[in-house]
Amino acid sequence: MNEYNCDLHYHGLHAGGVSKNMLIPVIAEQAQLKGLDVVVSADITHKPWLDHCKETLKEIENGVYVHEPFSTQFLIGTEVQDQFRVHHLIYLEDLARAQELREKLKPFGNIDGIMMGRPLLKLNGEKLAELVEQVNGIIGPAHAFTPYFGVYAHYNSVRACYGALADKVKFIELGLSADTYFADLIQENHSYNFFSFSDSHSPWPNRIGREFTRIAMKKPSFKELKHALERKESNRITLNAGLDPREGKYHATACNDCYAHYTLEQAVQLKWKCMKCKHAIKKGVRDRISELATFKEETHPSWRPPYLHVLALAEIIQLTLNAKKPEDPRVQEIWKKFVERFGNEINALIEAPIAQLKEVHVEVGENVEAFRAGRVLYYPGGGGNYGKPFICKNEKEMELKRKEIETLHLSQSLAGQKTLGEY
Ligand SMILES: [Zn+2]
Ligand SMILES: [Zn+2]
Repeated sequence: MNEYNCDLHYHGLHAGGVSKNMLIPVIAEQAQLKGLDVVVSADITHKPWLDHCKETLKEIENGVYVHEPFSTQFLIGTEVQDQFRVHHLIYLEDLARAQELREKLKPFGNIDGIMMGRPLLKLNGEKLAELVEQVNGIIGPAHAFTPYFGVYAHYNSVRACYGALADKVKFIELGLSADTYFADLIQENHSYNFFSFSDSHSPWPNRIGREFTRIAMKKPSFKELKHALERKESNRITLNAGLDPREGKYHATACNDCYAHYTLEQAVQLKWKCMKCKHAIKKGVRDRISELATFKEETHPSWRPPYLHVLALAEIIQLTLNAKKPEDPRVQEIWKKFVERFGNEINALIEAPIAQLKEVHVEVGENVEAFRAGRVLYYPGGGGNYGKPFICKNEKEMELKRKEIETLHLSQSLAGQKTLGEY
């Protein structure tokens, strides 16, 4: 049995708000540099994207594709939106099945329309699952907890979304603002495998593979993926890796315009209208999960794999150099050195010995060491704004930083109290 790092959710350039660089040849190269073994066609029901996939991907065996000369393998899958704005991930055996699904979805939406890589369908979750079942595909909710497009935004349970087809659903995707710890606070989720994928809109390795799922399979294929979800023949998910949920855009309850943070009680009192700028307050994933939680303390099914919190290597380098963004040429230059030395980013970040990392760059090596030891604090994200990580050199610095973040968090949550500036 081999283990594969998989990122099976992101978008091609025909989905809304996606980088023009999101093309198969770029994805294939960048995924390999990241250290992803298996990725996804994405957006496969959209005709222009399907044609792009047919032109650029070569089938190496049934339903498994590559873009030469890169080694990353592609499986067939997509994301769609249903009539209640719930997003679903779908995986299929091969391109022929994608063609069949296209025909079945056509009556329910303008699936080839401009920016319809992720189509909007006039179907509910149950009806959609039925169509996917007819083409022998698998389906489950994408970013299950996010406030706009997650299954838990519209329903109080996953089963309610899929109705009579509920037993067919074997996975949920956690999304960037939740992790295994949070998801397993809800009893229902103990029956689902968890996927952690990037949902990236750009191909660069600080985005693609920023969350990935390590899956034990004989070799990558749709069938083996299905077996992993059934935990059959020792196929299974062995690791979820992803952002600390506090780094996610919708972790805390916050204003979707000025990002002021609120507690759930404050938001209710204010009727979900920001005190500061009068825009809407968006319920955070943390508070949504606390509403639904069955358990007060961490608890998991015995087979649940570990969840590893990760930061992108470019982000660690950026923090180390105090650079404005990961695209900074100084950041990129150091990033390249690490990838050349260790083969790919995931190896450098998770596997490589610290002493060897320090040979490439002392301070970056120290920060990877701090990150692996868990010395990272976050100013939580919310309202559509990513959280902000701080890497601490030692316990003492961590203590100071923790206080600083608390103060900042307080000054941002305005309801029921004065801001620090007003005292
Ligand atoms: Zn989505
Ligand atoms: Zn506001």
